[in-house]
Amino acid sequence: MVGGKRTGLGDFILLIIVYNKVKMEVSMYPRLEIDKNKIKNNLNVLTTFLNKEGIKMTSVIKGCASMNQVAELYVACGSDSLGSSRMSHLKRIKSFLDIETMLLRIPMLSEIEDVVKYADISLNSEFQTIQALNQACKEQKTSHDIILMMDLGDLREGYFDVDEMIEVAKEVERMNHINLKGIGANLSCYGSIRPTCDNMTQLVEVAEMIESELNRKLDIISGGATSTIPLIFEGCLPSRINHLRIGESVLLGRELGEFYECDLPLETDSFVIKAELVELKEKPSYPIGEMLYDAFGNKPEYIDYGIQKRGILAIGKQDIGSHEKLIPKDDRILVVGSSSDHLIVALDDTDYILGDVIEFELYYQPMLFAVLSSDVYKVFKG
Ligand SMILES: *Cc1c(COP(=O)(O)O)cnc(C)c1O
Repeated sequence: MVGGKRTGLGDFILLIIVYNKVKMEVSMYPRLEIDKNKIKNNLNVLTTFLNKEGIKMTSVIKGCASMNQVAELYVACGSDSLGSSRMSHLKRIKSFLDIETMLLRIPMLSEIEDVVKYADISLNSEFQTIQALNQACKEQKTSHDIILMMDLGDLREGYFDVDEMIEVAKEVERMNHINLKGIGANLSCYGSIRPTCDNMTQLVEVAEMIESELNRKLDIISGGATSTIPLIFEGCLPSRINHLRIGESVLLGRELGEFYECDLPLETDSFVIKAELVELKEKPSYPIGEMLYDAFGNKPEYIDYGIQKRGILAIGKQDIGSHEKLIPKDDRILVVGSSSDHLIVALDDTDYILGDVIEFELYYQPMLFAVLSSDVYKVFKG
């Protein structure tokens, strides 16, 4: 049909298939709707903001399983570096995009060959692993950049002992195939420790100690993730921090405004979950009988609100992680609880009927689960 060709039976059948596919996609639930324009907006806002501060950004896309459409969008919008914690993501990205890749999780000894092949930079904290990277580079006749990680108190990855870190930096400098690109730190992950002027200054001090030992400047001092951005607002991020690895605030944009009160024009509903009502009844809100464990072996607290209008949605923990991280768009709705495949909501003062679809905005965890759930349909807009 395209280009004025004759229409035939083949084209007609194709039209029917496309029509049915569109019809099916419109009516299939649960679904995750992803608004590319909103992600694009967030990427532009943050890139402009950070560039003005002289900070380069690696766009982290692990939060949406590094979906091809999102990776493509980032590159089309001018990202020059994509990061993920998983080698499988970077390998897939390298198969169809020409872009610098950064491996965020400390490499496994069992994946070293792939790291050298598909990641341009990796974050590291074990000398033995760096030696293995060097060896793999030699075999593959290539080179690899690393960032040495320092633990500033969050107690996930990184050198805790500064002297050890400096010694490793000196050893790496002597390696033939590994380029020490810089140092970095990660916060707000395990220990919930926030980036501050103090811990960021500590990172810069160690970078400068390494620089004086190596007799050269480091290219990168990587001051963390989304949670470091508030320090820029407060005007106390040391100027030598010149790189951040940003995930959540581009994909969702929720944390900066909500947890840190940073006023950037970010869209917070680029990902929306829609699920269908499969039961609707008046029920007591407090369980009846002898209480033991829920479906996941926990003992939740229940509050007695008396009789409520209750709905069950066909979506569950398998698809969203935790129901507590969903935000109903209709603020009359209360999320009450969930099991693997069911989500229970209170619908007092609403007029929903069976088969209606309820929409939720979300935090990071449901995004992570929903993109990976094969039972959640993904639909891109924009
Ligand atoms: C996930 C991750 C990031 C990105 O964090 P956001 O909070 O999503 O911005 C940065 N660095 C490392 C090491 C990570 O694992």
